[in-house]
Amino acid sequence: MIPHNRPWITAEDRQAVDAVLASGWIAQGPQVLALERFFVEHQGGGEACAVSSGSSALLLALQACGAGAGDAVIVPTYACSALVNAVHMAGARPVVVDVRMDDFCLDPASVDARPAASRFAIAVHAFGARADVGALQALGLSVIEDCCQSLGGLVDGRPLGGDGAAAVYSFYASKIVTGGQGGLVWSRDAGLVAHVRDYRQFDGRENYVPRFNFQMTDLQAAMVVSQLARLDTIRDRRAAARRAIVAALPAGFAAQADVDQPGRMAHRCVVVAQDLRARDALAAHLHASGIGCIVPVERFELLHRYLGLDPAAYPVAEALADRTLSLPVFPALESDALGRIVDALHRFHP
Ligand SMILES: *Cc1c(COP(=O)(O)O)cnc(C)c1O
Repeated sequence: MIPHNRPWITAEDRQAVDAVLASGWIAQGPQVLALERFFVEHQGGGEACAVSSGSSALLLALQACGAGAGDAVIVPTYACSALVNAVHMAGARPVVVDVRMDDFCLDPASVDARPAASRFAIAVHAFGARADVGALQALGLSVIEDCCQSLGGLVDGRPLGGDGAAAVYSFYASKIVTGGQGGLVWSRDAGLVAHVRDYRQFDGRENYVPRFNFQMTDLQAAMVVSQLARLDTIRDRRAAARRAIVAALPAGFAAQADVDQPGRMAHRCVVVAQDLRARDALAAHLHASGIGCIVPVERFELLHRYLGLDPAAYPVAEALADRTLSLPVFPALESDALGRIVDALHRFHP
């Protein structure tokens, strides 16, 4: 069975973790600092603060941006519940909007543009596709770029994530690089990151204000830093696997737009069928061929459904939940396995 996803762990990654174990310092320490330095260099400046997960990065970025009680935060419905969790934890109110059919990203045209309706938005670069941050900023919104699925992606040679008030990342097992868990907040605004850094750690502080433990460990950071050294290879391998799969797609299936643009990080290869029946037929055929594939966002996971909102107001996300399937493009995918996927697609005759 070819899995849908598998982390790419090399001998160098193991050595990096071993070195931390041997050092006697396994909690937050020099490896976390090295991870933060990598992001500052990668983003061409600003400040970075590593935290325990992408979820905590979202929560802390929202708080540091000033989102709290009484504030509305715009989020795309076709995304994971981490978004609404973070908004609720910050004491704010999520305003769920529909996404675009072509690239699955938040649709700025669905945003209520009344002045002061909302001040904040979380823009998810869905599966590596670039969300339209500029259009949201033009509506007067302070935008947090959710780069959990797009780390390493480039736009005209510049890293994705540099346009908003802050960018957040996840190092969970299924993301671009992983420490098992972990996350990070990056911003050009040093004051914003200082707020995150202050809140991350409670121990040994001179004054008391409520803080928490949102720290990442050096074990995790060493693994992530080791993997970041091959970010270009990861991007190339994912893009090549995706190209091979898209070229072999049966008639009637399309691929998510924008992820094929030069420089994008293909977190997923999501294909769009004409209807639910065609999607389920392809999924059954791939499973029977020993190929792992998943529905990337199930209908019940759509954020408007979790919040009990009227599905009729979210026609695009509803259609995507029924019609999409994600195929393996992880960087550790061997070429013979990729060949088997391509063969299986050629053998599919619905
Ligand atoms: C994974 C993910 C998160 C949450 O990250 P965790 O590290 O799992 O908490 C948030 N947003 C997006 C878009 C994600 O893919």
